[in-house]
Amino acid sequence: MQGINKTVAMVGALLLAVAAYAYGWHRGDSGQQPDLATDASADEEGRKTYYPNTEKLGKNEMRVISLGTGMPNQRKSQASACWLVELGLEIPYDLVNKVFVGHLHSDHIGDFAAWHIGGWVGGRQRAPRIWGPDGPEDHPEWGTKHFIDHQIESFSWDIDGRSGRLPTVAGQIEVNEFPHDEFSIIYDENGVKISAWPAVHIMAGPVSFSLEWKNRKFVFSSDTFPNQWFIEHAKNADIVIHETFGTIRQNIDLQGWDRANSALVSARVHTPPAAAGKVFSMVEPRMAIAYHFFNDENTWEDMYNEIRSTYDGPLTLAKDLLAWNVTDDEIKVREVVAQEAVWPAKSPYGTVPPTGDREELPTWLVDGILPLEDVMEAYYERQGVGDLYEEQVPKKQ
Ligand SMILES: [Zn+2]
Ligand SMILES: [Zn+2]
Repeated sequence: MQGINKTVAMVGALLLAVAAYAYGWHRGDSGQQPDLATDASADEEGRKTYYPNTEKLGKNEMRVISLGTGMPNQRKSQASACWLVELGLEIPYDLVNKVFVGHLHSDHIGDFAAWHIGGWVGGRQRAPRIWGPDGPEDHPEWGTKHFIDHQIESFSWDIDGRSGRLPTVAGQIEVNEFPHDEFSIIYDENGVKISAWPAVHIMAGPVSFSLEWKNRKFVFSSDTFPNQWFIEHAKNADIVIHETFGTIRQNIDLQGWDRANSALVSARVHTPPAAAGKVFSMVEPRMAIAYHFFNDENTWEDMYNEIRSTYDGPLTLAKDLLAWNVTDDEIKVREVVAQEAVWPAKSPYGTVPPTGDREELPTWLVDGILPLEDVMEAYYERQGVGDLYEEQVPKKQ
């Protein structure tokens, strides 16, 4: 992949945060970035926050960014679950093109179109790739391919209209399904190995992941109740991200949930914080990260105390936009300072001219266009594209 083949993007879900992150923060030419050296690194004195696009990663350095740490009921401070992993090199937006889906709950696959179509419009030149679990034999429609195929189909009007105007191939998606019911290595390229194994979450389908690269190891639970496979495969990890759910009382008192349902969802469908602590104690990561709860002033202490009742190692209570820089010497946790008014990044590899057929306006719509051609021709001239004017005048079919 054109000189950056050591880099892989991995997210546990898809959502707008991907677009927001990758669009603007990689823009070195926006004039919006703080004036910081672009060849700095995380271990330098004084770098207490992370400004995207201002730091190089070391040869063995992994950077993990929490793009979303929240719930199906998204809110501005916490988007739904989504994690970005960068290995050795910062990823240009064009190459945020490998996505690993742990399960198909909306809070883990939400904003699919914002990533897919948004990335296409934003400059992606090739078809992105998605990995996700298959469905059980009697329920293939629970599998990732079914989900993606139907997303693509449901966006027919959008995709057909852009094909031929944008690189048609980048409007498609390569889907790689893998077994939901056993351990398997699902990706092994460029020195990066990603494995998946079953997660215990509502019904068959969900999986957890590990990513191994050089001597780094990253583990992401997706959603799961504590289980034997996680303990087995999460060993020796630098970073272990395990879900934990707001307490039963929080969901009764703050969300108004029914008592029985609150207990069931908080303690059985998901992992209660003391149980997450138990998992961390058994796995002993260099850094444990708990996510999947509303991390607020009136909730974090409960969560912290529950986790601390079973675990006393390194811990982050995740919130959106934290960065973990992982090296041999340390794991540095910082807040990310992000721009909100962002633009898509230019592809560092240039653009492929659109090819192939494209849909055009039917004659009856061309007939309805106001005759503004004197205005239009002058506009093309002022914008320096007068040579394109004639061929772009809408024609009757
Ligand atoms: Zn879920
Ligand atoms: Zn979830």
